[in-house]
Amino acid sequence: MHKHVKKVLISEEQLNKRIIELAKQLSDDYKGERITLVGLLSGSVPFLAELIKHINLDCEIDFMDVSSYRGTQSTGEVRILKDLARPIVDTNIIIVEDIVDTGKTLKVVRNILENRGPKSVKIITLLDKPEGRLVEVEVEYIGFKIPNEFVIGFGLDYDELYRNLPYIGILREEVYM
Ligand code: 5GP
Repeated sequence: MHKHVKKVLISEEQLNKRIIELAKQLSDDYKGERITLVGLLSGSVPFLAELIKHINLDCEIDFMDVSSYRGTQSTGEVRILKDLARPIVDTNIIIVEDIVDTGKTLKVVRNILENRGPKSVKIITLLDKPEGRLVEVEVEYIGFKIPNEFVIGFGLDYDELYRNLPYIGILREEVYM
C-alpha cells in the first residue's frame, strides 16, 4: 500500500469484478445499438479502459476535458479545456466519469451534450458520494456508493498524483493539511 494511503476502500479485485458487471449491464441495455463512450479526462481513463474491454457492442470512444476542481474542494466552476473530436448527432452517448460529488460537473456536461442532438445521453460513474450532492443530476449507472471522504487511485488524483494506484484509497489528511 502507498504510504500516503490511510485505508484501501475498494480493492483491485472488487473494482474489476464490478466493472465487468457494469459492462454486462450496458451491453444488455444497448443490445443491437452502437454507443459512444465519452470519457471525462483524466480521471475516467483507467475506468473507461477496463470497462470497454468487457462491452459487447459496437463502441466508439471520445474524450472531453472539463475543469471543476482545485485541491480537495469543488469550486463549482466548469470550463471546457478539451472538446469532443466528433459531432454526436443521433448517437447514443454514455458519459464516463470517475466520481460524482456535488453533481455540478456532470449536470453541466450532460446539458452541453444533450443540446448537440444525440439520440440519447446516459451517465456511468465508477464512484458516487451521495452526501456531497448539491445539484440534482440523473446518474444511470453507478459502480460503488462511497462515504464523503477524499479518495485517490484508479484515475483519481490529488494534485495530479496517485492516479496510477490500482485500487481506491483514502488519502491521509496530513498529505493535504
Ligand atoms: P462534482 O462536480 O460532482 O463535485 O465533482 C466531480 C469531480 O470532482 C470528479 O471528476 C473529480 O475530479 C473530483 N472529485 C470529487 N470528489 C473527489 C474525491 O474524493 N477524490 C478526487 N481525487 N477527486 C474528487
